[in-house]
Amino acid sequence: MNGAASLLVVNFIIAASFGVVFVVVAGHSRSRRPAYWIGAGYNVASLSAICELLVAYGFMPKLWALGAFSSVLIGMVLLGMGIGDLYRKRLAGWIICAFVGASVCLSYLIFDLHRGTPLQAFLYQTPFAIVLLVSAASVLPFRKRSSIDRFLGILLLITGLHFFAKAGLAVIAGAGTSARDYVHTDYAIISQSMTAVLVVAVGLTLLAALILEIMSDQRDESDTDTLSGLFNRRRFERTVQSILERSPDGKHAIILCDLDHFKTINDTFGHHTGDLVIREFGRQLLHHLPPHAVAGRIGGEEFAIFVPDTETDMAVGLAQTLRSATMTLPGLPATLQVTASFGVASLTSPANIAEAHRKADMALYEAKNAGRNRVKIAFGRA
Ligand code: GH3
Ligand code: MG
Ligand code: MG
Repeated sequence: MNGAASLLVVNFIIAASFGVVFVVVAGHSRSRRPAYWIGAGYNVASLSAICELLVAYGFMPKLWALGAFSSVLIGMVLLGMGIGDLYRKRLAGWIICAFVGASVCLSYLIFDLHRGTPLQAFLYQTPFAIVLLVSAASVLPFRKRSSIDRFLGILLLITGLHFFAKAGLAVIAGAGTSARDYVHTDYAIISQSMTAVLVVAVGLTLLAALILEIMSDQRDESDTDTLSGLFNRRRFERTVQSILERSPDGKHAIILCDLDHFKTINDTFGHHTGDLVIREFGRQLLHHLPPHAVAGRIGGEEFAIFVPDTETDMAVGLAQTLRSATMTLPGLPATLQVTASFGVASLTSPANIAEAHRKADMALYEAKNAGRNRVKIAFGRA
């Protein structure tokens, strides 16, 4: 077996391995469908290596050449569909089918053209380039782009453009006089090596993106309080910290809240009813939470709300709304009257969250001392 044929075998193993890994990862991922498309794409594309070997060493080279072209193209289209799904840029099914149909017909029509001419080389490679460039276009403008997304977008762009480079190389170096010759040319070795490198790079980057997503989902899950549906203390503090890093000079507010006489509720109505109160209070809190505000359950029956870019009056208004909502929580025994006390403090530049928290806590303490079921504002800004 010559160098290019060995590379074909290596590429088959690489693509098939990625195919299997993506299918396994899909089972654990929120992005299950895209991961399956990508896995299917690698599996289908891996068949092209077998077809190429059959072109060189088997009967009916034209059929296998068509098979090689179609499997790479369909594999890439499936990969592109997965990427489109992942980055919410889906193409209509009929456009994809029409594109694949037209490209396979084109490949059939150019089969007998003289190989290595610019026309033949570019017509052969352009459909692959289009699929990869469309995939790059679905990743690069993605709004919530992280560095891995940006890297993937650039990699897809390079992979798309490398097909034009391959066409140029086929013209310069020659791709053999017939399809059967391909595997014996230097061009095949260079072409298959370039593809192997890019296939591995794209596969690893996509895997990294999916695995990072799984890790972030698991972290969010473990940082969410299951009873109230709010952030737990750790996630609340982390989120507030990142808001403050992004907007250190903004005028923000923090509201601390503590359910009144909760011990008595537990003692009178039972722990289960106490849990129900926490759940319903959490729901009300989320219902009234302004956009961009964050809320957490920071203790047993203690809650914190951080409202970025807000005036103190607005924060006090929110606390009053929540105080009223607490008195009409649904699904509780008719004889149970739940109330809550609130302390509000505002932060100005340079924001000092620890100091603001301390002030809001003192205001909450005042609200408790003044008879509960009320909102108190901390004096002075933190
Ligand atoms: P105050 O008005 O001064 O806040 O009085 P309180 O009774 O609410 O305050 P205290 O801190 O004495 O009691 C809080 C109680 O909350 C004690 C604890 O058993 C109860 N608690 C804490 N977490 C949970 C929970 O997850 N479920 C239930 N049902 N009770 C909880
Ligand atoms: Mg308490
Ligand atoms: Mg309490």
